[in-house]
Amino acid sequence: MKTENMNRTWLDRILDGSLTDYYYHFGISSNDELLQKLRPVRAIVLAGSGKRIRQLARHWSALNHGAEILDFPKEERFVTSYTAGILFASHGMGMPSASIALQELMRMLYFLKKGDPEAMDKVSWVRVGTSGGVGLPGGSVVVSTEGLMSDLKPYRLLRGGDGEYWFDGTFPASTCREIISAGTENGVAVVPGKTVAGNDFFLEQFRLDGAICFETPEARAAWLQRLYDRGVRNIEMEGAMLAGYLNHWGFSSFAMICSTLLDRLQDDQVRSTPEELQVFNEKAETVLFNYLQSSLLEQRPFPTVSGDDKDILIPGPASPDWEWLRISALAALDSSYSPYSQFPVGAAGITLDGRLVQGANVENASYGLTLCAECSMISNLCATGGGRLAAVYCVNRQGKALVPCGRCRQLLLEHGGPDMLLMTPQGVRTMADMLPQPFTPGDMDV
Ligand code: URA
Repeated sequence: MKTENMNRTWLDRILDGSLTDYYYHFGISSNDELLQKLRPVRAIVLAGSGKRIRQLARHWSALNHGAEILDFPKEERFVTSYTAGILFASHGMGMPSASIALQELMRMLYFLKKGDPEAMDKVSWVRVGTSGGVGLPGGSVVVSTEGLMSDLKPYRLLRGGDGEYWFDGTFPASTCREIISAGTENGVAVVPGKTVAGNDFFLEQFRLDGAICFETPEARAAWLQRLYDRGVRNIEMEGAMLAGYLNHWGFSSFAMICSTLLDRLQDDQVRSTPEELQVFNEKAETVLFNYLQSSLLEQRPFPTVSGDDKDILIPGPASPDWEWLRISALAALDSSYSPYSQFPVGAAGITLDGRLVQGANVENASYGLTLCAECSMISNLCATGGGRLAAVYCVNRQGKALVPCGRCRQLLLEHGGPDMLLMTPQGVRTMADMLPQPFTPGDMDV
């Protein structure tokens, strides 16, 4: 984190108690009890509309066993709810409105994490929104690589007093990759691309249907084509500011996921029905929730039961959480090195003592010496304390189960034994089913 870019003259006085901070637009202050309950926050999800925030919070709560939803009291500007480690907040439309929400939330986060840079940087930020597609039909999902202003440069520029303040509009590539690999299931097409943030829905988005219009159809078509040729895949109204401010503080994980309402190469007006628009929104939300589930897994505690004086791990998952393993395998696939086959594979296993181990395939120019995902997973198992595997899931890029090759069955049997459970395209099987009459250490006792 770039602590030198934080306004610590103000922020630290809130921490030492000499000042109370009023997050006016959210109707809450640093003295409020409600804020104390938000200290474990792990991600902040932003969306334009309050209605969408309510839906997102309800959905996330449902995915987390009906976790309690805490609503902020003030709603006339921004709607805000916290549930299961995520703060959901609306920001209105356009950079001026969204920058108010973002700056107050950044201040709030500083307070919640007591100014600890490491703790703040563990929090991910995601804006989920709508946009006009550029060369993409309505219902596509774009994960932004860069937030550009309408001159196609990746920055946000503010002029104040005598100064010019430039903010870097690029989004972290690692978060973009993580979202794309987590989002490819359920048939949702997720596309990385640059995003233009217009200061005006009509004039800076080159629409011909505004009350004021300076463009000709030819200039409009040429501008949109230029966007497409430069790798822009959508247009919205907040991205450059969002990336700019979060980069300024040095956050390492933030992203923007937008569904497209129409293809701007074809039209200016949004003509889809409310039902179609609902489906478009749901696609972006599916991608968001897949990402949140897989990115929060790393921090997710293993199931525990309360002992007399400490929490103890439940030994050996009798019935493994297969969906969790599948998502973990998909997340591991991101680190595959498979330039020769272009067939990335990820694997995830849970050990009898409840540890998650992951791996991805690693190829090399000899082709034949390829290491499968199970190999790297088992190397990770040995490197992180060894132990026995209880259940394993291995997936392709689409998140579909793959069966291990012959060699990997031998490896899995060695580290999981005949009772280890394996997800296969035909359902759950034991290793005894997958490798009958195996070669075992006992066979060397002659
Ligand atoms: N949001 C925008 O900013 N532009 C569009 O075309 C659609 C949604």
